[in-house]
Amino acid sequence: MIVLGAGPVGQNVADRARVAGLTVAVVECELVGGECSYWACVPSKALLRPVVAVADTQRVDGARQAVTGRLDTTRVFARRNHYVTDWDDSGQAKWVRSIGADLFRGRGRIDGPRRVTVTQDDGASRTLAARHAVAIATGSRPALPDIPGIKEARPWTNRHGTDSSTVPARLAIVGGGGVGVEMATLWQGLGSRVTLLARRSLLARMEPFAGELIARGLTQAGVDVRIGVQVTALRRPDSVTLTLDDGSELEADEVMFATGRAPHTDDIGLDTVGLTPGSWLDVDTTCLVRGVEGDWLYALGDVNHRALLTHQGKYQARTAGDAIGARAAGLPLDDAPWGDHATTADQHAVPQVFFTDPEAGAVGLSAEEAARAGHRAKVVDLDLSAAQGANLYADGYQGHARMVVDLDREVLLGVTFVGYGISELLHSATIAVAGEVPLKRLRHAVACFPTVSEIWLFLLAAYHRS
Ligand SMILES: Cc1cc2nc3c(=O)[nH]c(=O)nc-3n(C[C@H](O)[C@H](O)[C@H](O)COP(=O)(O)OP(=O)(O)OC[C@H]3O[C@@H](n4cnc5c(N)ncnc54)[C@H](O)[C@@H]3O)c2cc1C
Repeated sequence: MIVLGAGPVGQNVADRARVAGLTVAVVECELVGGECSYWACVPSKALLRPVVAVADTQRVDGARQAVTGRLDTTRVFARRNHYVTDWDDSGQAKWVRSIGADLFRGRGRIDGPRRVTVTQDDGASRTLAARHAVAIATGSRPALPDIPGIKEARPWTNRHGTDSSTVPARLAIVGGGGVGVEMATLWQGLGSRVTLLARRSLLARMEPFAGELIARGLTQAGVDVRIGVQVTALRRPDSVTLTLDDGSELEADEVMFATGRAPHTDDIGLDTVGLTPGSWLDVDTTCLVRGVEGDWLYALGDVNHRALLTHQGKYQARTAGDAIGARAAGLPLDDAPWGDHATTADQHAVPQVFFTDPEAGAVGLSAEEAARAGHRAKVVDLDLSAAQGANLYADGYQGHARMVVDLDREVLLGVTFVGYGISELLHSATIAVAGEVPLKRLRHAVACFPTVSEIWLFLLAAYHRS
């Protein structure tokens, strides 16, 4: 098998295929470890953790008085540099070789069925041929809007947003999705004066209360949150001036665009197999690309646009890796829903956490998505402060929980939590949603007293009462 891209997803599918007994070639044109390891998940969380850790102490009487200084940004950046191994990928490259895969450095392009040409930086190229499969795991890049002056403004994207070691005095962030709200939390915490500009509500794909609570948290932290505005033009002689559609102007030292992602598929030879360059890749449940003859081309991770998340891409990699192994061995596939070779959770149980302050996390369907999908559903809402453990965790705990129940089967369709420290709580909801645990049984899953998890007890009681 040939794997295009050695991000978290490419590495995982390579590993799984090796376990299945295939020989594997992995092609990487930048750093082994991908966007996730060096410019996305890892550095952003390494930078966010100190910001949120200090904020946590301010909600605990006794600790608040002990932590009175400002963040030491030099140490925070050093912490980030440690977790991104100073952008040196030799450790991860060694790991790829340790699983018995061959690593080829260079840009990979598909060159007809089962063939990939690898072009090195010095122009030398070679062609690899796969017997069984080619897996595209080339990820995504920032999608920048076509606004006059955007190029001259030299905007930050997730790259500078995670690798900068200087704190701009004034930072304008455009985009109210997950990347935008995390970046606003992070850079405001590090000392920038952040203005967050969003066309519509924050975290618009989540339950509406999530965006509202995150906006409130950001405002309390000092971020200027402006919702319902668009940038129409940019100028940068020195600082950046943003013209907004309400006619006003905003001046900042840097501007960051967090306005979505585009697939890394424009220059990977899709045209040689009848696909459209630059498009997201449509796949079946085993991650086989639709519209290509013969069962050999797979697309995993961000490129298939199912869920642009590392953990979900790695789940696809494990599932597709096993499916590739089974197909190569001529074994039957177990690709019925929830089977070993089906990425069923992509449709029903995708968990996601935003590491803001408070944190926002959700799995499965929102109330609106459940209604749109035709479910007869009941929505149960509660303040997380109903759980005594929440108040002991943070004085004056602010947070909210919602569960969406399928009334016909009495199982959970989705759960959303917004509150302090809920990132570790979300997996309990993921197990309940993916496991389709009947509510009748869930009441026997007893949460420890006094933890935030006790919210489950109150959610179930509220469901039965109403
Ligand atoms: C700021 C930010 C924060 C995020 N935080 C989180 C988080 O906390 N949790 C989470 O789950 N997700 C998070 N994400 C999303 C996550 O980063 C992606 O979902 C994940 O990186 C996708 O993994 P991937 O392997 O598909 O792609 P990538 O990580 O992008 O890796 C793709 C690899 O393919 C290589 N490549 C591309 N084209 C070629 C080619 N032609 N030939 C050879 N190699 C090629 C690239 O160089 C790259 O190394 C975040 C994203 C951003 C932007």
